[in-house]
Amino acid sequence: QTETITYDMLDTLAKKSYPLCMRHLHEQMTKQHHLKHLGRLQYRLFLKGIGLSLDECLKFFRNEFVSNGSMNPTQFEREHVYNIRHAYGQEGKHTSYTPYSCVKIIQDPPPGVNEYHGCPYRHWDPNTLKQRLSTNYGIHDEQVLNEIVDRSQNHHYQIACQIYFEYQHNVKNHGIGINHPNQYFNESRKILT
Ligand code: SF4
Repeated sequence: QTETITYDMLDTLAKKSYPLCMRHLHEQMTKQHHLKHLGRLQYRLFLKGIGLSLDECLKFFRNEFVSNGSMNPTQFEREHVYNIRHAYGQEGKHTSYTPYSCVKIIQDPPPGVNEYHGCPYRHWDPNTLKQRLSTNYGIHDEQVLNEIVDRSQNHHYQIACQIYFEYQHNVKNHGIGINHPNQYFNESRKILT
């Protein structure tokens, strides 16, 4: 890891280097100042994987849930600090938990109401996907939009993600196959830093 990542960098990194699954989680968390259980699991392991330290991760969650949100500090300490420390292997059996791969995220239970985990190419309906890609995520090329939506509908979610990566980073035929959100992030940082 060449960069030292602090929690105040996450907004920028989300825009530049996150895959859509994690960007969506980040945006919803910073908008609502909360995230439900499965979203927290998916996102905090990703954060560990990008090299965010335990202290910075605690700061980030505390800042969102308590300072910006409505959770009282005692509740945060009781319900969240242990779980975040646990994800970092600092509690319980001291297991170091592995960030989720694409296959796991794609196959896990889909997001329900007010849940934001999952893979957008798998779990968003085609119209929502297309609309958000063009309105929120800066894809203005109709051909690219259609290709991403077609690939998603044909169950080639990771290829759709790769097309997004290539568009976002302005690289053609980059040759990476996306199989892990943290790999997406690392490849992005290699290009951008
Ligand atoms: Fe995330 Fe993988 Fe889906 Fe891309 S293909 S959005 S990295 S789960």
